[in-house]
Amino acid sequence: MGKNFFINLGTILAGIGGLFLFLKSRLSTGDIQKSKTDIKPCKRPFYYCEIHRNGEVSPCCPDFLKYESSPGNIGKEDFDKIWNGKIFTDLRQRVLKGDYSMCNRDICCFYEPCSVSDIPPDYKKGPKDFTMSYDFECNYHCITCRDSVKVNTAEEMDFYEIILLPKIIKAAKNAETIGLLGAGDPLCSRHTRHLMRELVKNYPGIKIRLSTNGFLMNEKNLTELEIQNNIQSVSVSVDAVNGETYKKIIRTDGFDTVIKNLEMMAEWKKQGRIEWMTINFVVHLLNYKEMPEFVKLAQKLDVTALFTTYRPWQSAEFYKKYDEVAVFEPANEHYCELAEILHDPVFKDKKHCLLEPRLLDIANS
Ligand code: SF4
Ligand code: SF4
Repeated sequence: MGKNFFINLGTILAGIGGLFLFLKSRLSTGDIQKSKTDIKPCKRPFYYCEIHRNGEVSPCCPDFLKYESSPGNIGKEDFDKIWNGKIFTDLRQRVLKGDYSMCNRDICCFYEPCSVSDIPPDYKKGPKDFTMSYDFECNYHCITCRDSVKVNTAEEMDFYEIILLPKIIKAAKNAETIGLLGAGDPLCSRHTRHLMRELVKNYPGIKIRLSTNGFLMNEKNLTELEIQNNIQSVSVSVDAVNGETYKKIIRTDGFDTVIKNLEMMAEWKKQGRIEWMTINFVVHLLNYKEMPEFVKLAQKLDVTALFTTYRPWQSAEFYKKYDEVAVFEPANEHYCELAEILHDPVFKDKKHCLLEPRLLDIANS
């Protein structure tokens, strides 16, 4: 398997909002392939950054970038110095000239072409948009992600609460939006729950992009956290429309609760309380036959179903079955059946269905 298959989990979950916007814009222009060779400046390093495991800072998903040493660690250094430091500055200067030698454009999902006048004039003050991908605490242990439930250790909690939290609050002084959580579940994690409260307390206008499994996404929880008026969007990993399939993949009995919470959040979207909502489906052998029904669920809720292909993250044993479960690989024995499924007219409903470019290619073949 090539490097493309090892995009880290945090990236995809954390960036799902960006991926959503990327796919939406590309689908509307029908220009997916061309985007890989565009040399217009990419706006992203001027307004965005991610915080990863142990506090490492990255301008984009680390898998989409090539740099020899780390841009810096927010736990150990002053964030403003990292943001205006050598790697961020190099990357910005290069993309301004259309030089993408620091980027893996073949797999980057977030290239954002712009003109120089689109670059925020105050970008040196700090990112307008952050994604947090360092906290892995989650109430689930999905088959594609991990083999046991992750609870932060006392040592991790001390690091997150005592070292990272105050530094992130300070670093977010220029932020308008914040993406949570690229690695675990923001509504379950004790630290991220605290972080959200603190962010909203310090910056009442800040907007949150929630990436969650949806189990705890109910009005009571969101109100208790006092973030109910600060949610910009929700991106919910669901992966099935059948309770039995859900149980096999997510390895818990939460399906009915999640559906109820999706209905509540879809109502919030209808009322204009949140801007957009995706329900996410990572395609593999255990669920591909449910893809058309999943679009119908999105139609019923009037939200968008986002389909991505399974990446073999080595944090779960499931990756060893990659060849068997990757139905989107032409060599897989179920590939033709997947292609047939993807020719269902329901996938043409662009308001309610977004296919990752790789799946779109199959649908259009
Ligand atoms: S092209 Fe991709 S990897 Fe490079 S700066 Fe833009 S978003 Fe980041
Ligand atoms: S909900 Fe599942 S995929 Fe998401 S972080 Fe938790 S275990 Fe991983």
